[in-house]
Amino acid sequence: MEEWMRRERKCAICGKPFVPNKYRPNQTVCSSLECQYRRQLSNMKQWRNANPNYFKYKESQDRSWKQTCRERSLEWRRKHKEYLQLYREANKERHRVYMRDYMRKYRLKKKEEQKSEEETGE
Ligand SMILES: [Zn+2]
Repeated sequence: MEEWMRRERKCAICGKPFVPNKYRPNQTVCSSLECQYRRQLSNMKQWRNANPNYFKYKESQDRSWKQTCRERSLEWRRKHKEYLQLYREANKERHRVYMRDYMRKYRLKKKEEQKSEEETGE
């Protein structure tokens, strides 16, 4: 192992000094969980920026792509009801906020539907 490779350098994300992994001498991010996570996120972003048409392409390939996704997620939900229950317990506050917004939108939509029914239902 060459000496320069084992020297400390600064993490590109948190700026803390770290010693690169000997198998990855070009490492620019330290091995802390947060920095690794953020590195992955930015990798994903870079990839998406480099392939901006990937998801659009997929969608246009199959018109029922969204439908398939919806069905799959419904099926998943049926199968994982118990798990979702636990998940909701663990994220009660987040879920509460989510449901509040959801219901607000739902009621608004209902109202608008009613209105348009009244207008056209003479
Ligand atoms: Zn770091």
